[in-house]
Amino acid sequence: MDVVARAADLHRRVVVFDAHVDTVLELGPGGRSFLERGEHGHVDLPRLREGGVGVQVFALFIEPRYKPERGLQRVLELWDRLTGALAAAGEAVRVCRTVADLDAATAEGQIAAILSVEGGEAIGTELAALRALHALGVRAMGLTWNERNAIADGAGEDRAQGGLTGFGREVVAEMNRLGMVIDVSHLCERSFWDVLATSRGPVIASHSNVRALCDHPRNLRDAQIVALARTGGVMGMNFYARFLHADPAKADVERLCDHVDHIAALVGPEHVGLGSDFDGIGETPRGLEDVSRLPAVTEALLRRGYTDAQVAMVLGQNFLRVFRAVWGQGEAALRRA
Ligand SMILES: [Zn+2]
Repeated sequence: MDVVARAADLHRRVVVFDAHVDTVLELGPGGRSFLERGEHGHVDLPRLREGGVGVQVFALFIEPRYKPERGLQRVLELWDRLTGALAAAGEAVRVCRTVADLDAATAEGQIAAILSVEGGEAIGTELAALRALHALGVRAMGLTWNERNAIADGAGEDRAQGGLTGFGREVVAEMNRLGMVIDVSHLCERSFWDVLATSRGPVIASHSNVRALCDHPRNLRDAQIVALARTGGVMGMNFYARFLHADPAKADVERLCDHVDHIAALVGPEHVGLGSDFDGIGETPRGLEDVSRLPAVTEALLRRGYTDAQVAMVLGQNFLRVFRAVWGQGEAALRRA
């Protein structure tokens, strides 16, 4: 079998897991339909199917104009919009809150949808709000976007480097207890190190790349990648052209695979996955114009000599491992309580 046929076959068989998209922002009044194949944007149900996606994390992103006072209100509006759009897809999509939900979705060939929050402004200064979001099915949270909040400083505060606050430490501990995946994408460096020193269990960077290949504060330095891997964590490759290459015209599928190669060489292929940031990025790499193009990643990785098992890890098994482990721990703790 030639590599094109091998890639198509492998892509159909593996679970493809994308750890970050901002699609909810496109689904508003006057926006796109999740159910119809769009001419614009990157993600909808038909294109998720064409791309062979099995698990999709949908972020509830709080636009800066809602911060800080209206963060929770905005997240609730987006939660309502997103869960409505996903429910309209009927049996095609299952919103997953437990490990059993993930297993059922995979077994039945449904797209597993996971809800996450991007920006801890959603909970203000209240652990009660964190628990309420968990009750609404939110199973992962990025602690900051680029700004400072009550939890920590974000990547845009790279001169302040304020780190994790006292409240932030409580949030990390409560997310560990509840079994919510902690996402360090968008944290400033000091916050990153504070979270790693505080959290039990694996931590993810859902949509961040390699700083050694593209020097941007949203990407991770090699020492950070090594530390993240030591937690058992995974980082998802962001498709934004400007996080892949200082010259976005040079961003393509091969450049994305250069970032995968760097991480695989540094810490092993067990710690890299996909976090496209689709519908949140203005410039996509050549060959990855929307989610329907994901099979190109499989083909490019096979051409580079990755084994089928390694490609399966990068496409989804690694993130599945972390989400199952973190959720499973929370579910066990809740059973004991
Ligand atoms: Zn982001």
